[in-house]
Amino acid sequence: MSDASIRPGELLAEEDPPQDAALRFIGRIRTPWADRKDCPRQGRQDGPLCRIELNRPWDQALDGIEAYEIIEVLYWLDRSRRDLLRQSPKSDGRTTGTFSLRSPVRPNPIGTVRVRLEGREGASLLVRGLDCLDGTPLLDIKPDLCAFTPKAPPKPDVTS
Ligand code: SAM
Repeated sequence: MSDASIRPGELLAEEDPPQDAALRFIGRIRTPWADRKDCPRQGRQDGPLCRIELNRPWDQALDGIEAYEIIEVLYWLDRSRRDLLRQSPKSDGRTTGTFSLRSPVRPNPIGTVRVRLEGREGASLLVRGLDCLDGTPLLDIKPDLCAFTPKAPPKPDVTS
């Protein structure tokens, strides 16, 4: 589907052009997929080995990452349209609100995925589990929440 076309039943936002927050791309993701039709809908942790390349100086921020088996990757789905309020994933005229889908088409096309960390080669991480096109800009990397224990001192309990 071309970026300009919409499917039967889909609803377009009539809005001014986005006033983007100043995100900083910190690297690129290298995957085997140049074309959307070949790219998985969601990554699998037994999927092909992919490479996350950090730009300098952000490669220095990788220190400590090898301690984690699973990491969370955030990326900018740069080839997405951003103006659909309702979408028809099956192109059958039935539509769902954008925020109840994990479609790449969203007002701020941020993709997130948990990947298996297979190794590090200098400024690059080797991972399995990605689902983005080759060259997708990298936004952030975090240790998986389940395995992460905050390193900062605990805060007082604010629930009571
Ligand atoms: N795992 C992420 C999530 O849930 O936030 C992304 C899921 S999204 C359904 C994955 C799909 O986005 C891929 O199958 C591909 O069609 C599309 N896609 C991948 N990389 C993209 C990019 N750089 N720009 C636009 N679309 C992309």
